[in-house]
Amino acid sequence: MREDLKVYDNVLQLVGNTPLIHLNKITSGFKGDYHAKVEAFNPGHSSKDRIALYIIEEAERKGILKPGDTIIETTSGNTGFSIAMVSIIKGYECILAVSSKSSKDKIDMLRTMGAKVYVCPANVPADDPRSYYEVAKRLHSEIKASVYINQYFNNLNIDAHFNSTGPEIWKQTEGKITHLVACSGTGGTISGTARYLKSKNPEIRILGIDAFGSVLKKYHETREFDKDEIYPYRIEGLGKNLIPTATDFDVIDQFMKVSDEDAAHTARELARTEGIFAGYTSGAAMQGLKQYAEEGEFDENSRVVVLFPDHGSRYMSKIYSDDWMNEQGFFDAKNELSTQDIEI
Ligand code: PMP
Repeated sequence: MREDLKVYDNVLQLVGNTPLIHLNKITSGFKGDYHAKVEAFNPGHSSKDRIALYIIEEAERKGILKPGDTIIETTSGNTGFSIAMVSIIKGYECILAVSSKSSKDKIDMLRTMGAKVYVCPANVPADDPRSYYEVAKRLHSEIKASVYINQYFNNLNIDAHFNSTGPEIWKQTEGKITHLVACSGTGGTISGTARYLKSKNPEIRILGIDAFGSVLKKYHETREFDKDEIYPYRIEGLGKNLIPTATDFDVIDQFMKVSDEDAAHTARELARTEGIFAGYTSGAAMQGLKQYAEEGEFDENSRVVVLFPDHGSRYMSKIYSDDWMNEQGFFDAKNELSTQDIEI
């Protein structure tokens, strides 16, 4: 790569090294200083580029993957897109087993990126042979030269962020960061970043974001799996109905739950106030930060980094659609995107 001319050999050289952007308006009145780590600047528009590239290159280093081999995962979301992107450049087959609940747009996007997509029935238990988990496992056992990424139960997910997101934030803040605010889904982002930052300064506070309807916060507090915490919610990619081993609960200091509605409004507010067009979980992270601020977490000396996992374009038919917001009963005049249709 010609660093001086910013000419790259392929898109993968653009994974990571995302910018830290000062938050100017949305945090007005809060004590301290606030920056967002905007992961939409990755070529696949999300933090998942980091884990796709890292896990695949680890498999290459260990001699497990050769060109032409197959990479398997169960996701229709960001991870699927990132694995498909890495597979194209490196010459692997990419198979994604997805639920029939996935939108047609998402499936089309993955196919556009060269993935072979198996659409599996959504309404069967996880251990049913037709479920996307079971289909992925079966394909992995049948296709000898294959790697199953299994992001919720793969420690390399943590390592990917320990080796990239953590060092980047440490360097970008010149070691002055005092708090990290990040969502937890698989837990890879928050755990890996936290492990690195705490290895540099154990005093840094790691503040997780969870969804109402997910078990993570309760598990963090009690180390017990409480199935009563589980109910449907709308934010995708945040929270979970099981305990992922890719989450290191010991490096997270606290969890905060955010509602679907607050997260949606705050994502829209981010666009209007900061010009940052980010995804639903970015709205959740920002909303969680506000709630932490209300609880008195920050003071004048706080140097806070909040991580925004992906780009807003993937949510046009959801939080950025007035119709969808209305259907959810989420609308209020303050947050209207276009307040009036102007007749010409
Ligand atoms: N936001 C989005 C949009 C995601 O897809 C994910 C991944 N599930 C997360 C946040 C959470 O990141 P992690 O899996 O590293 O905890």
